[in-house]
Amino acid sequence: MLINCSFLDKNFEIIEEGNLVIENGKISECNEGYVSDGADFKNFVVMPSLINTHTHIGDSFAKDAVQNLNAKECCGKNGSKWKFYKKASQREISDAMKDSCLQMLDSGISTFVDFREFGMNGVEQLKKSIKNIQIKAKILARDVQIDDLDYVDGLGLNLYNLKNFETYEEGLKYIKTHKKIFAVHAGEAKDEISEVFNLKILPDMIIHFLNPSEEQIKAAGRNKITIVLCPRSNAILKCGIPNLRQLTDAKINVCLGTDNVMLNSPDLWAEMEFAYKISSLHDFVEPKEILKAVTINPAKALNLNAGIIDKGKVADIIFINKNGLNLRHSKNLITSLVNRCKSSDVSKIMLEGKFVKGL
Ligand SMILES: [Zn+2]
Repeated sequence: MLINCSFLDKNFEIIEEGNLVIENGKISECNEGYVSDGADFKNFVVMPSLINTHTHIGDSFAKDAVQNLNAKECCGKNGSKWKFYKKASQREISDAMKDSCLQMLDSGISTFVDFREFGMNGVEQLKKSIKNIQIKAKILARDVQIDDLDYVDGLGLNLYNLKNFETYEEGLKYIKTHKKIFAVHAGEAKDEISEVFNLKILPDMIIHFLNPSEEQIKAAGRNKITIVLCPRSNAILKCGIPNLRQLTDAKINVCLGTDNVMLNSPDLWAEMEFAYKISSLHDFVEPKEILKAVTINPAKALNLNAGIIDKGKVADIIFINKNGLNLRHSKNLITSLVNRCKSSDVSKIMLEGKFVKGL
């Protein structure tokens, strides 16, 4: 398939007039200029599909059930979240998870990384809920046995899970040797980041990482730890405002996640806009760095051959309508993608070379 379109190139610059060749599920060519035999997609800017690097879609059944709580009161060991789970039916939980996956896919998210609670029952429930949906899930479990680790993509833990480190030590060693993911929440509260760096086995991903010291940023870089920021979640849970620029300046691999669906829509367009706006409160972040945090950076963290428009990459791409009300009259398309593009502007979605929306 040969198409004429605008596209976001591998340097995250816009090629206004370009062409892409899609063959066998991959991008085999991407060049400047329209070609005479190319299909007309000139109204669209094509970019990599989005990757949501931190979700808890399990709590989709409890949207906005809480107000005015801090992180501990909401999601801590004895937080409100668990009380809602006790009252909900399994059917309600499964249906809501499915809805969130459909919503994410429709918004251009091809892959999400979920912290799945409730052991293997929780894992099975998520797998069943998304069975007929083309979104790809990376499932990070907890409370599972070593034998179960073959059925998941890794572990997603809280620091309190790691208080009895021995319980997880064998599992974490297994994860390291089998190239799975060890992710941990840390930094919503003070001193949590130091606790992480005291662990015998360091994580591949730290979620939140608020207010790190210079030394902790260096340690994350040295140990090639991916940092996943969830700015809307941090704001609503009164945790603070992440400083994305500080991390990108230190060449840390930074990703964005939408965190608990009970608190935030699983919408990376909303997350990007918020991250961009709040960057003005710390140090301004170039919009392209925010686009990277939902495409190429998570692809690197998850070892996916995607997240960028380049020869040989998997054709997981989305088509944004340049003439829609949000982007029409834009003087800077990269900024507009981050600052005002909405799910409704995602007209077409292609996964592995096949359209799943819009054709
Ligand atoms: Zn989380």
